[in-house]
Amino acid sequence: QVDRYLYHMRLSDDVLLDVMARFRAEMVKGLGRDTNPTATVKMLPSFVRSLPDGSEKGDFLAVDLGGSQFRALQVKVFDDGKQSSQLESKFYPTPKEVIQGNGAELFDYVADCLLDFMESKNLKHRRLPLGFTFSFPCRQTKLEEGVLLNWTKHFKVRGVQNTDVVSALHKALKKHKASFGIDVDVMALVNDTVGTMMTCGYDDQRCEVGLIIGTGTNACYMEEMRHIDLVEGDEGRMCINTEWGAFGDDGALDDIRTEFDREIDLGSLNPGKQLFEKMISSLYLGELVRLILLKMTKEGLLFNGKVSTALCTKGKIELRHVVAMEKYKEGLSNTKEILTELNLFPSEEDCIAVQHVCTIVSFRSANLCAAALAAILTRLRENKKVLRLRTTVGIDGTLYKTHPQYAKRLHKVVRRLAPNCDVRFLLSTNGSARGAAMVTAVARRLATQRKRIDAVLAPFLLSLDTLREVKNKMRTELEYGLKRETQGSATVKMLPTYVCGTPDGTEKGKFLALDLGGTNFRVLLVKIRSGRRKSVQMYNKIFAIPLEIMQGTGEELFDHIVQCIADFLEYMGIKGARLPLGFTFSFPCRQASIDKGTLVGWTKGFKATDCEGEDVVDMLREAIKRRNEFDLDIVAVVNDTVGTMMTCGYEDPNCEIGLIAGTGSNVCYMEDMKNIEILEGNEGKMCINTEWGGFGDNGCIDNIRTEYDKEVDEGSLNPGKQRYEKMTSGMYLGEIVRQILIDLTKQGLLFRGQISESLRKRGIFETKFLSQIESDRLALLQVRRILQQLGLDSTCEDSIIVKEVCGAVSRRAAQLCGAGLAAIVEKRRENRGVEHLQITVGVDGTLYKLHPHFSRVLRETVKELAPQCDVTFMLSEDGSGKGAALITAVAKRLRNVGEN
Ligand code: ADP
Ligand code: MG
Repeated sequence: QVDRYLYHMRLSDDVLLDVMARFRAEMVKGLGRDTNPTATVKMLPSFVRSLPDGSEKGDFLAVDLGGSQFRALQVKVFDDGKQSSQLESKFYPTPKEVIQGNGAELFDYVADCLLDFMESKNLKHRRLPLGFTFSFPCRQTKLEEGVLLNWTKHFKVRGVQNTDVVSALHKALKKHKASFGIDVDVMALVNDTVGTMMTCGYDDQRCEVGLIIGTGTNACYMEEMRHIDLVEGDEGRMCINTEWGAFGDDGALDDIRTEFDREIDLGSLNPGKQLFEKMISSLYLGELVRLILLKMTKEGLLFNGKVSTALCTKGKIELRHVVAMEKYKEGLSNTKEILTELNLFPSEEDCIAVQHVCTIVSFRSANLCAAALAAILTRLRENKKVLRLRTTVGIDGTLYKTHPQYAKRLHKVVRRLAPNCDVRFLLSTNGSARGAAMVTAVARRLATQRKRIDAVLAPFLLSLDTLREVKNKMRTELEYGLKRETQGSATVKMLPTYVCGTPDGTEKGKFLALDLGGTNFRVLLVKIRSGRRKSVQMYNKIFAIPLEIMQGTGEELFDHIVQCIADFLEYMGIKGARLPLGFTFSFPCRQASIDKGTLVGWTKGFKATDCEGEDVVDMLREAIKRRNEFDLDIVAVVNDTVGTMMTCGYEDPNCEIGLIAGTGSNVCYMEDMKNIEILEGNEGKMCINTEWGGFGDNGCIDNIRTEYDKEVDEGSLNPGKQRYEKMTSGMYLGEIVRQILIDLTKQGLLFRGQISESLRKRGIFETKFLSQIESDRLALLQVRRILQQLGLDSTCEDSIIVKEVCGAVSRRAAQLCGAGLAAIVEKRRENRGVEHLQITVGVDGTLYKLHPHFSRVLRETVKELAPQCDVTFMLSEDGSGKGAALITAVAKRLRNVGEN
């Protein structure tokens, strides 16, 4: 009979799935900027972005207002690795005059109680941070501020709605400061759901949902920042206080609400509001039972139709009664006793029926709660893009805790509705109260961490003044390299290349090119056509240079090179032809003519013996002779920067600079002969290979080099050399990042302080990972995946920090490179004696081409530091191949002219 009578309260799984879908839609609505104003579920950002990690510590005060009892507490948090905390608290009554009076009185009362508590615990003299648990919907704009949207539950205090409750508490506390000398800082405003999640999160790092089923009901969970329209920023997560109690306030649940629900609502302090809460929370459960019993009795279904005065009195049945009656193990005695107290004269059948009514009402509560929770869990799972979600829900609230079957029922239904989620339900002890301290503790930890991370990254933030200084120093070093007296000791070597002009479009023929000095060794065949059918065709083959050859003897290296050429000629079927060859050799070479180049010193990853001080063209010729299989006409030895400049010069005659930002960093540019003191002649121009990578080797930029740069330098093949290159190029940026990560980890700011095996590996952090991690389109989850591939097990917070580190390192690289380039373009402008210079820079290098921000920052820096130059950047297409062929063509033409 009861079942039939309460048919509408018994919700099938289909109905629950439907409720779940409606709630999910409501969450999305609450998160959207445009839809939030009309959403019933407010999805309030809590500004809690991080869960406890166990390293929190200190003494905290908290007040907890909004639950069934008001209290003040002191929480001591220890970072002893055991996640322990100590709590002392004192409960205070919340008289009706206070919770339904006016705002000033309420906050004075709270301050009074806090003062009393501090006195009793002898804390008056201490300045402690205070967390304020305030369990009502508040619109927060930061952690320590919150505007009350509306009162809920049994609170209704005048003059508080739409004001900031933290400043109200501050004001009240200030009065006390004046009269009693106590001093507290309100550091965080915390909802009880958030407090519960944080408290459980302290014990279980997986906890990312907080749930309250008590006087009220509500839930919070960690949402991805990129889905939260109302808060700036896309990185990481933030806890969202759903305020799900208001679900259905727009009528969305009207089809499942019963006449009893409507009656409860009409008699409440806030009619039409918190409709979902009114079907679930303990404040209304007893009343629901009473209304049902009253109606059933009136209809003669119970107690022989005899209604008692008590049964007609609002509030006569409370949660504790329902709980007692549902203790099935204790039979009917509790029920009988309670009903008798209500002046009803229950038969055994009556008792059974009443017990059943209670069960239906509380099961409905658990079912509805489960549906909404399942919606949250499903959302979390989808956010994380995992097939199965393993997570923990922290729970607090008297209904959940004291009701004999509630928890079990809730768990079971959640598992049914969200079958892909493995959920652990963790009961929080004093969650709502302890949580405020926890949030405060985490906020303090984060603030300290932030300071330390900022301190580590501060040396990477270069001011405009510093960059100007770098530009000026570069300029000085460029001049040293050009001057006869100083060039011998100059760190920027300014090597003449004997390339005196850009191609004029008449070049033609077939050429071979070699490209040595980058990541890959390549042999190329380049066909250049002139005239109307002007075009360049290229065929190339990449060969590996094994490490043992890169760092073996010179003879082995050149034999290997010739072997590769032989393979290529074979492969192309041109072994017999004696083709002119351009040798792109991207290391500092002192040239005496276009086809002579003495290696000054190896850079990047190379370190073959017996090469430094030798002519690389001779070494190549000798190796060809040794092999005695084919002959080649080596016409030019070419630096890759020059090749790059020439390639772009072929398209744009304004191109007078070549820049490489790849494995290494280097620049060449056209200099007036009259400025090149070590060469005879004052007419015309010649391309100078600056070899600016060595900038700073005399210590002139040591003021901006960090300890990490020094680490990287010391671990390199050429310590003390190429200091500028080591701060700006692809071969080293990842390594700098790795050094910083190690330091941050040592300081306990990353990876839970654990330096993993892989992080110890030199070179593990390649520069391409910087590009990937810094890509704007990449979600943090993907950053985590990249780190995972590197063997770095990171949390969400870790990946934010890693991304920040990458950003700082690559940005500095681009800025330094820009400062150097500004010096070059300014020099060109002064040479030309013009107010305004239009110039093109040919660029090559994977760092420039593939890093998401490097090229932009580089361009911005040049613009800022050389405002009188209008610099166009032109990407070179295979400068080392095409450029070498073009130079060879020009050189060959000039040689023929000379011979003739
Ligand atoms: P090279 O300078 O050796 O001729 P590249 O211009 O291709 O050749 O540069 C290769 C260097 O670029 C590698 O050493 C690596 O450090 C860096 N690199 C590779 N991939 C990326 C990427 N996706 N983003 C940034 N740098 C990269
Ligand atoms: Mg290259």
